[in-house]
Formats: sequence, C-alpha cells, structure tokens
Amino acid sequence: MEGPPARGPLLAVAAVVATLPLSLVSTVLVGEATPTASVVYLLPVACAVALTAVAVRRIPPQRRRPWCWLLLAQAAYLVGEVLFAALDLTGNEAWPTTADALYLLAYLPVTIGLLGLNRQRGGSGHLGSLLDAGIVTLSAATLFGVFVVLPIATDGTQSALVRVVSTAYPVADVVWVFLLARMVTGPGARTTAFWLLAGGTAATLAADVGMNVLQLVEGGDTTPVWMNLLWQSFYVLYALAACSASAPELAEKKPLEGGGLTVPRLVLLAVAAVLPSAVLVGLALAGREAPTAWLATGSVLLIALVIARVWDLLQQVRSQAVQLAALARTDPLTGAANRRTWDHELSRACALSARTGEGLYVALLDLDRFKAYNDTRGHQAGDELLKAATAAWGDALGADGFLARWGGEEFAVLLTSADEDGALRRLDALRAVVPHGQTCSAGVARWDGTEEPAAVLARADEALYAAKTGGRDRLAVAPELRSRTTGAGTAAD
Ligand code: GH3
Ligand code: MG
Ligand code: MG
Repeated sequence: MEGPPARGPLLAVAAVVATLPLSLVSTVLVGEATPTASVVYLLPVACAVALTAVAVRRIPPQRRRPWCWLLLAQAAYLVGEVLFAALDLTGNEAWPTTADALYLLAYLPVTIGLLGLNRQRGGSGHLGSLLDAGIVTLSAATLFGVFVVLPIATDGTQSALVRVVSTAYPVADVVWVFLLARMVTGPGARTTAFWLLAGGTAATLAADVGMNVLQLVEGGDTTPVWMNLLWQSFYVLYALAACSASAPELAEKKPLEGGGLTVPRLVLLAVAAVLPSAVLVGLALAGREAPTAWLATGSVLLIALVIARVWDLLQQVRSQAVQLAALARTDPLTGAANRRTWDHELSRACALSARTGEGLYVALLDLDRFKAYNDTRGHQAGDELLKAATAAWGDALGADGFLARWGGEEFAVLLTSADEDGALRRLDALRAVVPHGQTCSAGVARWDGTEEPAAVLARADEALYAAKTGGRDRLAVAPELRSRTTGAGTAAD
C-alpha cells in the first residue's frame, strides 16, 4: 500500500496529460455539444478521477480521510459533468438541472477535505493564518457580493429557483477563495503535492469566477476552451497531487517562520485590504453609480480584521519576549537560575539584608568527584545527576532559599535567616539529599552588612576549597562563622 508510486498510476498520469491537448483540439475543431466533444472532454476527467481513487488507497490510513473527501468531490463533479453532457446532447434547455445540484453539493466534500488537510498541517492552532485567509476572503466576498451576487439576487425577471442557484455559484466561489487562501497562508511544508493541490484549487476558482463573469457580461452559457481546460486541470492536478510521493507529507505539521508574514504575503494582504476602498474610489472618479454602503461596510470589516491580525502579532511578540527573558534567566540543562540571575539576586539580597538586618548566608555547593561519575557512567548520566540534584536541593531549600547554577557542577545558594544555627543546619542538610548515592561539598560565608557581594562569595569559595581539601562530603565555614559547629562534616580551614 505505501511507498513510492507504482508504475500503473504513473502511466495513467501520462495518459491523462497526453489526452489534454487532444481535448483542446477537439473542443476547437469539433465545437460544442457533440458526443465526440463530450467524450474527449470527459475522458481525461474520468481517467483523473480513477487515478485519484487508486492513489488515495496508497496514502497511509491515518492520513487518508481528507483525501477520501476530495475523491468524493471529484466523483460528484464527474457525475454532474456526465449528467450535464447527457442533458445537453438530448437538447435540454431548462436550467437549473440535477447537474447543478451535484456541482453545488460537491463544494461540501471539497471544503471538508481541504480544511481537514489544513487541520492535519497544524492550521487550526494558528490564528494569524486564519485571519490572513479571512482578510483575502472578505475582500473577495465584498466584491463578489456587490458585483455578482447582488445583481443576480435582485433580478426580478428570474424565478426564485434560478436566482437561488445563480447566487449559490458565486457564494461557493467565495468558499473556494477561502479554501485556497487557507492553504496558501496556513502552516505545513510546501511540497509538490501541496502546490499541485493549490494549483487544482486555483484552476477551479479561476474557471468558476470566469464562468460567473461571462454569464454576467455576455449572459450566454457558452463555455470557452480555456475554461474547459481549467476544469480539467482541477481533476488532473488533484489526481497528480494524490499520486505524488509527497502526498502523505501533506499531513505533517511545520510551523510558519516569523508568524508567516513574508513580503509577498504582506503585499497580498495589503492589496486585499484596500481593494474594496480602491474600487469605491475608482467608481467615484469615473462618475459611476456605486453600491457605496456595501463597499464601505466591507472596508470597515477589513480594517477590523487587519487590527485583529496586528493584535495577534503583538501577543506573539509579547509571549516570545517573556519566553526569551525566562531563557536568559535560567540554565537550560537544570532549569535553575543562571549566573547572570545569581549576580542580580545576590545584589538584591544584600540590599534587603542591609535594610532588615537579617543574616544573609551564601553557600557554594560542588558535587564530589563528578568527573569520575561522568567517566564511568557517561555524560548523559552526569547531566541527569545535575538535574536531579538541582530538583532535590530546590525542594530542600523551599521558597525562602535561592539556588543558581554557578557553572559546571557548582551551585550557589542564598539563604536569609535570623537564626544562624538554623541556617547552617539547613545548608548542611543539602548534602544529604544529593541523589544516586553521590556526595557534595559546601562552603558557607555570611555577608557582613557592608562589603561588596563579590567578597562574601570569595569567602564561600575559600570555605568550599577547605571542604574539598579536608576530605570532601562536608560543609566548611568562612572565618566569621568559625565559632559555630554544624555537625559531622563541618571543616575548619
Ligand atoms: P571534585 O570532587 O574535586 O569536585 O572533583 P570533580 O571531578 O567533581 O571536579 P572536576 O572539576 O575535576 O570535574 C568537574 C567535571 O564536571 C568535569 C566536567 O566534565 C563536568 N561537567 C561540567 N559541566 C557539566 C555538564 O553540564 N554535564 C556533565 N555531564 N558534566 C559536566
Ligand atoms: Mg566537583
Ligand atoms: Mg567543580
């Protein structure tokens, strides 16, 4: 089922592509509404639908569902086309027909299929791209509404059924605009399958819009050759997309870089946002009567969407700033505060202690023989020990202590306390919680109330050195604390 496309589908692709010029020649030479012209038009279309059916089976089951909807849409269109050709050949003059019902119904599976793909690609979690698609769609909806839907809907010479079906087509075109905009502005990789699908969607949109405009301008129901080719492109490009080796990848999530706001997208959004106002200005300058209220309403709604987009972008920038600030403050391995934060916190704690008069204790902790631990158990196990020790020390210290990674396997601790013995006991207790049967040494000093923060840190470092040289797995104190004893591991110089 899975793997690169087999030879069968590839041959079918070649057949479809080869049939296209034939259909062009036939449409030009044979003319409209002859059995030959219909068969030559429908042949590549039927081949393409069959090809999609074969290719969809090759897409992994968990990624297949949106493609099944697209296949269903193709099948509905094909049945509609066959019905249309049959009615045309039997000289049917009535409109709308059952074929129109099928054409219009086919929008539903196309919408479900393309939006399903968009969701698989991570589009539903990206408000910015939804707003972008909304801006393009609203712009198109305003112009379509004013210049296509309104004239048809208010044409009193037509029956209600004719008006409903006639307006349903341009309304559905706006849906196509949304689907295409959602694809192009949404996240996910731009693979061959993606561009083939986008091309097929764009071809249908172009054919549909062309048809609406022609009917409005000429009033006739002739179908030019290029329009037939666009319709065929829909079937063929969707089939090729399903056949493409990159079809399963369409379901993969890939975030948009920089919020997706590239220069081409900004140009597209700018054009879409100003289009209704520009049309309004153009009509006014040309002295033509303009549906001012509709165009102005569309423009106001567009401004609202643009502001929503700016707001969304601002929120993203804010949350990224918060994330960056947190990253700049913490050590990436252990999640503890880093040295930059330590320097800041130490100065702050000194200032606070000077105001309150509470004792401020600075300790340096260093894992014993950590190099040997790394060498025997591996660097990754060493990393795990650093993380586990950070968590254990953080828990033991509680909210009133402050722990930072000073560098390598050395950590620095701040503790404010009015009870000196209690403070030393709590710091000494940190040795007991080192995980995985490892030990650590500690050096403690007390801030004298006036000295530079670096001076108390230097004394703690000297005490740590004393603890190491004294045999490790012990706490040593700086001279100002030497009258204190803190249990078994306490070292003097
Ligand atoms: P002592 O008891 O004297 O402190 O001996 P030690 O082996 O702990 O000290 P030494 O300074 O000789 O070695 C420290 C080791 O810490 C060397 C270095 O590879 C390791 N280290 C530093 N940072 C990291 C880290 O982020 N992850 C891991 N796994 N190891 C680290
Ligand atoms: Mg060490
Ligand atoms: Mg060390």
